Amino acid sequence: MSENTDKYFITLSSYPRAILHIDCDAFFASCEQAGDPRLKGKPIVTGKERGIISCASYEAKAFGVKRGIRLSEAKRLCPALLILPSDYETYSLYSERMFDIIKRFTPSVEEFSIDEAFCDITGLRRVYRASYPEIAGRMKERIQKELGLTVSVGLSLSKTLAKICSRHDKPDGFTAVPGYRLHKFLKCSHLDTVCGFGPNTVELLRKHGIKNVFDYVNRPEDFAKRLLGKVGIELWRELRGESVYKLCREEKKKYLSISKTRTFMPASREEDHVKARLTRNLESACIKLRRHSLSAAKLLIYLKASDFKTCGLEAKLNRHSSSTLDFMGICGKLFNIAFNENIMYRATGVVLSDIVPEGVDSRTLFDDPVRIEKIARLSKVTDTINIKYGKHTLHVAASDTLKTAGNGHPRNNVAWRKQELLKGETPRKRLKIPLLRV
Ligand SMILES: [Mg+2]
Repeated sequence: MSENTDKYFITLSSYPRAILHIDCDAFFASCEQAGDPRLKGKPIVTGKERGIISCASYEAKAFGVKRGIRLSEAKRLCPALLILPSDYETYSLYSERMFDIIKRFTPSVEEFSIDEAFCDITGLRRVYRASYPEIAGRMKERIQKELGLTVSVGLSLSKTLAKICSRHDKPDGFTAVPGYRLHKFLKCSHLDTVCGFGPNTVELLRKHGIKNVFDYVNRPEDFAKRLLGKVGIELWRELRGESVYKLCREEKKKYLSISKTRTFMPASREEDHVKARLTRNLESACIKLRRHSLSAAKLLIYLKASDFKTCGLEAKLNRHSSSTLDFMGICGKLFNIAFNENIMYRATGVVLSDIVPEGVDSRTLFDDPVRIEKIARLSKVTDTINIKYGKHTLHVAASDTLKTAGNGHPRNNVAWRKQELLKGETPRKRLKIPLLRV
């Protein structure tokens, strides 16, 4: 691109808006390493229960091990690889703590995914008596010090730009691009680093002679509109340093649906076993409903065969509920339709939807209020017992076979933090404080 065309590109003073994107490096693996220092510096992966890697530490990545490949293949690439079962509860609580730290600096935080946040620190220079890159550096340092997790941080003028920046230098990176350096930065940014440009879009842009992000923003706005429509313009503006996408600060506590799924090994065609797996998912989903004081009316079940083909069926209760027993009858009926004894199954799942806050009374004339009341009380008692003695200690009979069926299976390995409880703690509370061991 000649100097002549450069002048069409707007150049802004440093940070009209200062948007940060904070992204944790190899998040699941890093949580495992933060929780157990013996794993630090070692090639580890999570996903033992699925047979496929869900996250690889940077030490493992150095051997070519990455997300999505089979464990056997990974072990071949790196014989010293440590394979751990996923522990999503721990990850979600590390995530919560990371967001808490970020929120100490600014209330304007969007929890973008379990390990990513956008935040707006515009106007905070005076408060912290520091420049924007310095503020970002402090946040990064706090996360590292308090949680033992490294993050990659991007600082720029819009969400889209900040995200390109955080990706620019991973792991443990920090990239700040102020307005007056934007054009230089975009010239060395590939199209596929833009969140919103999928492989097809990149292909299309290449056909029009656009090789990097700078080429895109240097075309007229009309070009972006004609080629990619509304999103095209929005991205075109974002990439030129105009903050179009606002931060979404609402906490993601409102559930539209709650789903629970589990993959099991070995695959099975045994009716009782597959049904028990499905029932256990239903129990877990109902527990979650109750924990958040919600009830649901729609149930979807699905059975996944070992060739990855999935059969799903949906039904609606005639009223909202959060009790497993209320869903059991319809769940059994759907299962009987979906199940085929000639198929090997490897996973089951349930999705509860049409969710309303607990207490919304949707009883019909034909419901038995005494029975409803009894079942609700039973659920409460079950929760109390299970909180005290462990999840699923008390369960419905249909999932009883699981007690013995999966012994020795990675899923049944109890996470370290659940074994070492301090007095008065439940495993859920335990998660709030990573256990430091010497
Ligand atoms: Mg990440």
